[in-house]
Amino acid sequence: MKQIIVAVIGGGPGGYVTAIRLKQFGIESVVFEKERLGGVCLNRGCIPTKALVKVADFYAEMKEAEDFGINVENISFDFDKIYQRKDNVVEKLVSGVEFIFNKKDIPVIKEQVNSIEKTDSGYLIKYGEETLIAKYVIIATGSTPKELGFMPFDGEKILSSRDILNLKELPKSLAIIGGGVIGCEFASIFSQLGTKVNIIEFLPRLVATEDEEISKRLNMALKRKKIKIKLKTGVVGSEIKDDKVILKLSNNKEESFDKVLVSVGRQPQINFDFPELKTGKTGIEIDQKMQTNLENVFSIGDVTGKMMLAHTASKQGLMVASIINEKENGKKWDSFTLKYENIPRCIFTNPEIGSVGLTETQAIEKYGEIEVGKFPFSANGKSLGLGNTFGFAKTICEKSTGKLLGMHIIGPQATEIIAQGSILLGRETTAEDVDKIVFAHPTLSEVVMESVEDLHKLSIHKI
Ligand SMILES: Cc1cc2nc3c(=O)[nH]c(=O)nc-3n(C[C@H](O)[C@H](O)[C@H](O)COP(=O)(O)OP(=O)(O)OC[C@H]3O[C@@H](n4cnc5c(N)ncnc54)[C@H](O)[C@@H]3O)c2cc1C
Repeated sequence: MKQIIVAVIGGGPGGYVTAIRLKQFGIESVVFEKERLGGVCLNRGCIPTKALVKVADFYAEMKEAEDFGINVENISFDFDKIYQRKDNVVEKLVSGVEFIFNKKDIPVIKEQVNSIEKTDSGYLIKYGEETLIAKYVIIATGSTPKELGFMPFDGEKILSSRDILNLKELPKSLAIIGGGVIGCEFASIFSQLGTKVNIIEFLPRLVATEDEEISKRLNMALKRKKIKIKLKTGVVGSEIKDDKVILKLSNNKEESFDKVLVSVGRQPQINFDFPELKTGKTGIEIDQKMQTNLENVFSIGDVTGKMMLAHTASKQGLMVASIINEKENGKKWDSFTLKYENIPRCIFTNPEIGSVGLTETQAIEKYGEIEVGKFPFSANGKSLGLGNTFGFAKTICEKSTGKLLGMHIIGPQATEIIAQGSILLGRETTAEDVDKIVFAHPTLSEVVMESVEDLHKLSIHKI
């Protein structure tokens, strides 16, 4: 039977990145991918949504052109072209990854792995009618959208995040069940294109895992975009009547919509038999080195349920590649522990959100006495020039040591600016350390500097 060194199951940002790094280390792997390389992220997640975000923000900005002294008349758009552009962006990126695989001669088996079994000679992998034996297995099979039992996805009216990327026309009205990251991003996109959007969220706030102040500001911003937000409200039933979806709400009211997006979370995709593998509530159980309960079997990305973000999957995979490199080639790996709270979280709504580290509530719980520094974009010169001053940067540090614990930004380019927070927190920086850094002027990044200065009430431009 064919023997291989590493079997990577799933070719998303976890799996494909790992296979490339293994090749760079001179270790051969085979990637199993039942759809296309790139996984959810490139094909139906991060990349297509951000292509739509660009168009929606651009369109909204054009409608405000007069504020900048630019006369633009009869602004309109072609929905087909917008969706085609999104598909082109995806195609370019996915074919780019496929090209790298070809060039580096990394084999991809376009099949679903059905089962994995521990044997004396390695792990027996079954796919289609075939089998092979691998010394190491990396499970990176990702996640799928959760359904509501009483209203399963139909691809027409009741949509998943995948279905909504295949629309043929702009819906006049859209209910989004779930005000988490994915729900809010689609709300922002469709409301800016002119759809009447309603968010229905069971919890008391949007993006509930973020800092409370950030949630509040986002709520305010989305309401300004005429999005209707119902918090502490559940959907308890649905019916399709006269081409409309009628939602029955927990407050005993009924509302009807053209389409409904169900974005109530994602679940790990464990679609193969592997009896010896230990799984828990959130997915495949792993330790700090992404090792499962079985020797030489690792798992990374969404299927572990640790933190469902593309860059988490990739980083975990790169670490596993280094671990295998150490085992196979004796190349010592400078081992470190991945601190999940220090992984940046970006939300591509308008306004954007970027955050890293602990929220204010978490910081108080963990450290007791903390300091909070804040700086508004309205006092930042670059923001004024951009005509986009909504939002703020907020930095949290431990009172006794000045160690930075969290950074939360809502406003223009927040998803880019937060990279600085990631570096500062990742390097265990204190507020005093930041004092030694010079920030360029005029830049949006100055909000980081001023929010850190504000920890000690030393922000120059804050009133
Ligand atoms: C709408 C949306 C927007 C998002 N936006 C962002 C964002 O802006 N930033 C961000 O960081 N994250 C974002 N995410 C999350 C991100 O897409 C995921 O965290 C990321 O794709 C997880 O990577 P992964 O490698 O673990 O799994 P996936 O990307 O899910 O890839 C798993 C792959 O495994 C394959 N597979 C599964 N089972 C088998 C099997 N048995 N045999 C063979 N192949 C199999 C699947 O076909 C799939 O291609 C978004 C997600 C969605 C849905």
